[in-house]
Amino acid sequence: MLEIKNLHARVAESGVEIIRGLNLTVKDGEVAAIMGPNGSGKSTLSYVLAGRPDYEVTEGEILYNGESILEMDPAERAATGVFLAFQYPMEIPGVATMEFLKVAMNAQRKARGEDPLSIPDLLKRVKQAAGELDMDMGMLKRPLNVGFSGGEKKRAEILQMKLLEPKLCVLDETDSGLDIDALKIVADGVNQLRSPDRSIVVITHYQRLLDYIVPDAVHVLYKGQVIKSGDKSLAYELEENGYAGIIEEAA
Ligand code: ADP
Ligand code: MG
Ligand code: MG
Repeated sequence: MLEIKNLHARVAESGVEIIRGLNLTVKDGEVAAIMGPNGSGKSTLSYVLAGRPDYEVTEGEILYNGESILEMDPAERAATGVFLAFQYPMEIPGVATMEFLKVAMNAQRKARGEDPLSIPDLLKRVKQAAGELDMDMGMLKRPLNVGFSGGEKKRAEILQMKLLEPKLCVLDETDSGLDIDALKIVADGVNQLRSPDRSIVVITHYQRLLDYIVPDAVHVLYKGQVIKSGDKSLAYELEENGYAGIIEEAA
């Protein structure tokens, strides 16, 4: 499903290389956790996957279902089913969350050659998904993410994810700043999205989230490379011993 081969990427403006020969495979139906110390390049990897123009790929490949996505712009990537939830979600003043959802869903339908949703159909889908996330419908009238708490932002993101039904989801540091109740709701939402034809990449600094989203694979990122991969027991090992041992081993 997702194959990253010898990926090198740098910040366009300064030319600083952040991703330095990264290899990673995430299979269909798999939930993969990417862990690593602060500054190891986790967020940068998610930006590069999204196709943000301020990062340049200088070497290597990102294959999605066997095809390179490097030439696709962010909208094309989204249309093929890639969804990224960022560490710092964008605030969109003046656009009600419901309106944002409508535009996003209909843009995706258009890219697939489908008609826009009728208003009743849209409302029905949004109500159902919001209900599954135990989300207050009143929130949908507020501008997206403006003044939302950390938990509300994450919930809004999971709602988008449920409605857009992506094939590849990448969630960056979904757990930062969340209290335990919000964390459980996010984990619940992600678990509801698990399916044999969907891959989910969960980027996290701490093991805590992985108590609720049990990963099929764990990869440790350090200095822009995957230095160790394993199953969920690797996350427990990291929780207990920290990153130092693994970094030394890799060196
Ligand atoms: P993580 O998410 O793992 O904490 P990041 O991807 O945010 O790591 O950052 C990786 C490294 O890249 C850090 O050393 C950070 O300082 C550096 N970095 C990030 N953005 C830029 C930028 N625009 N210019 C230069 N260096 C950057
Ligand atoms: Mg960081
Ligand atoms: Mg980060």
